[in-house]
Amino acid sequence: VFQLSVPLNFLGSVYRELRQSLLDMETLFNLQKVNIAVKDAPYAKPLDFKGGEIKFENVTFGYHPERPILKNVSFTIPAGKKTAIVGPSGCGKSTILRLLFRFYDVQSGRILVDGQDIRDVTLESLRKAVGVVPQDTALFNNTIEHNIKYGRIDATHEEVVAVAKRARIHDTIMSFPDGYNTIVGERGMMISGGEKQRLAISRVLLKDPPQLFFDEATSALDTHTEQALMSNISSILKEKRRTSVFVAHRLRTIFDSDQIIVLKDGTVAEPPGTHEQLINTGGVYSTLWGMFIHSLAFCT
Ligand code: ATP
Repeated sequence: VFQLSVPLNFLGSVYRELRQSLLDMETLFNLQKVNIAVKDAPYAKPLDFKGGEIKFENVTFGYHPERPILKNVSFTIPAGKKTAIVGPSGCGKSTILRLLFRFYDVQSGRILVDGQDIRDVTLESLRKAVGVVPQDTALFNNTIEHNIKYGRIDATHEEVVAVAKRARIHDTIMSFPDGYNTIVGERGMMISGGEKQRLAISRVLLKDPPQLFFDEATSALDTHTEQALMSNISSILKEKRRTSVFVAHRLRTIFDSDQIIVLKDGTVAEPPGTHEQLINTGGVYSTLWGMFIHSLAFCT
């Protein structure tokens, strides 16, 4: 019995490790929503990254081609600036971010990064230049430190702490039983939606890519924490001249953007502009803003 139990124990631990790595793979796939239909073109070259200007040129796309979500959409996201995409629920804001990461290919038109069609560059080089904070972040069944380090595996503990501070999650982490070594994820400690969002933001700040996309990244936070965090993020992005795109319903987080793009019914509803410009135009954005202010009045 003894002789048998040793190899069985050994097999048991191999099995557990294998299972853990499969779970990690699963999380990773969920994280990136990998679409295997999108592949490198045989002639694909690495992206020649300059400043990170993004152009949508007459883009039409639908998850099912007979139901287009974006219809002949064109706009430019300038390099080194903060752009916001706003519009009613379901109008295709997250879809734009997915297309930028090339989870899907457009049905017609093209998407350019620094003048290069993203179908002509390698997926690896395209995705390396981008960091995304998705609406719902998957966490690994591992320590908080590991979860943040997923942004950049070779980061030091000090670097992890520095980004956690900027993402306003450090004090919360320190209040956990094992601090940065606390296990989170499905089989670890349960953490709140807002804590998860701040871990996702720490992760992307650690990766420090030249282009950053935030999809409702602070939606679970209270107003006070959201404002403090957004001001930290904005100053980092400004200081480093990063190209950023924010999708948000709470317009207070984006009204300081260099440019706001308003989507409606699958098209760009009005010429993009700053908050002041769009309020003066008195179009769709000013109506959304009016509704937003009204909803705040109701909340208080
Ligand atoms: P919200 O503000 O509610 O997050 P959104 O503007 O980001 O919405 P998208 O998530 O881009 O909207 O979705 C646009 C449309 O595409 C919706 O009608 C949605 O149901 C549909 N859609 C999104 N993902 C898929 C998918 N994987 N397969 C099929 N349809 C999808």
